[in-house]
Amino acid sequence: MPDGSLPSPRPLRDADALAAAGLVPPAALPALREVAARYAVSVTPAMAALIDPADPADPIAAQYVPHPAELETTPQELADPIADHPHTPVKGVVHRYPDRALLKPLLACPVYCRFCFRREQVGPAGGVLSEAELDAALDWFEAHPAVREAILTGGDPLMLSPRRLRHILARLSALPHLDIIRLHTRVPVADPGRVTEAMAEALESEKAVFLCLHANHAREFTGEARAALRRLSRAGVALLGQAVLLRGVNDTAESLEALLRTMLAHRVKPYYLHQLDRAPGTARFEVPIAEGRALLASLRGRVTGLAWPTYALDLPQGQGKAPIGPDFAERAEGGWQVRGPLGGGHFQADATPG
Ligand SMILES: *Cc1c(COP(=O)(O)O)cnc(C)c1O
Ligand code: SF4
Repeated sequence: MPDGSLPSPRPLRDADALAAAGLVPPAALPALREVAARYAVSVTPAMAALIDPADPADPIAAQYVPHPAELETTPQELADPIADHPHTPVKGVVHRYPDRALLKPLLACPVYCRFCFRREQVGPAGGVLSEAELDAALDWFEAHPAVREAILTGGDPLMLSPRRLRHILARLSALPHLDIIRLHTRVPVADPGRVTEAMAEALESEKAVFLCLHANHAREFTGEARAALRRLSRAGVALLGQAVLLRGVNDTAESLEALLRTMLAHRVKPYYLHQLDRAPGTARFEVPIAEGRALLASLRGRVTGLAWPTYALDLPQGQGKAPIGPDFAERAEGGWQVRGPLGGGHFQADATPG
C-alpha cells in the first residue's frame, strides 16, 4: 500500500477499487473499467498485500491486476480454448478421459487470473449448480462405474462452504467404483483464511483425496498459506502443485526453481507446468514452447527430482493434455542416444533378441 495503510479486508473487485488501493494509476482507469466489464476482477487482501505498487513488473500484480492488452484478441485465441463444452454430458460435468471426469460445482474464484483459460466462463455471479443440478451431476458419477476419479474444479471448489463440500465428498465417497477425489484450487494461497479447520475436516474421506494447488510464484506462499496447507495435510489430503508458465512471472530459471522449491518446502509435489492456453486477451503471457523446454532442462540434475513437473499442453480440440518435453532420449541407428542431466551422454543399443 503506497500510503502505508493496511490492505482492505475485502477483495478488490473493480478498476476503481484497485486505483483507490494504489495498485493501478488513475490514468489507466477508462481502459481498465472496460476490461473489468468484460472479464471478472478480484484481488484478495492476501494477494494485494504482496504487490509492490512501485514495481511495474511485479509478478503478483501481473497475475491478478487487469491490463489494457486484455481488450486485444489475437486470431489464435479461443473462447473455450480446451473445448470443455462438447464434452459436457450433464451440467457441471466434463468427461474427456475414460477413467476420470471433472465436476464443476461453481464458477466463482477467490481471484480472477488474467491468463485464465476459462475466463469467458468464470465470475462471481455465475455457475453455482442448484441443489437439483448438483444432484444430477453426482448421479452421473454414480451411473458411470468406469470413472474412478472425480476432479472438483470450477471456478474454485474451495469457494463452497464446508457444509456443501462435505455433502459432495460424502456422496462421492459412497461410490464403490471411485478411488480418487481430486480438487483443483487456488484458495490456500489466494485466500488462505478460507481454509478453516471445518474446511479441512470437510475434505476428510476414506478415499484418496488429492488437492492440486495452483500457484505461479514463490512469493504467493505466505505464512498464512503455509498454515492452510498444513491443516489440509493433517486432514490426510495429499498436496500437488500446478503452475502455468507465464512471461514475467516464472519464466526464468531462478523464478521457476524458486517456485518449485517453495512448493516442495510446503509439502506440495509439483505435478503440472502448463503451457499457456490461448484464451482471449492473454498473448502477453505466452512463453514459447522451446523456451519452456530449455528452462526445465536447465533444472534437471541441478534441482531435486521431486521438483520436476510434467510440462504439458492442453490440446485445443479437447484431445487432452500432452507432455511436451523436454526429452532426453533420441532415436538413433540401432538404439537410443540419451543425454545425461549432469552433462555427457550415452548410446543405449537396442537389446538383441536372445
Ligand atoms: C485436465 C483434465 C483432467 C485431468 O487430467 P490429468 O492429466 O489426469 O491431470 C481430466 N478431465 C478433463 C476434462 C481435463 O480437462
Ligand atoms: S483460479 Fe483458476 S479458474 Fe479461477 S480465474 Fe484463476 S485460473 Fe481461472
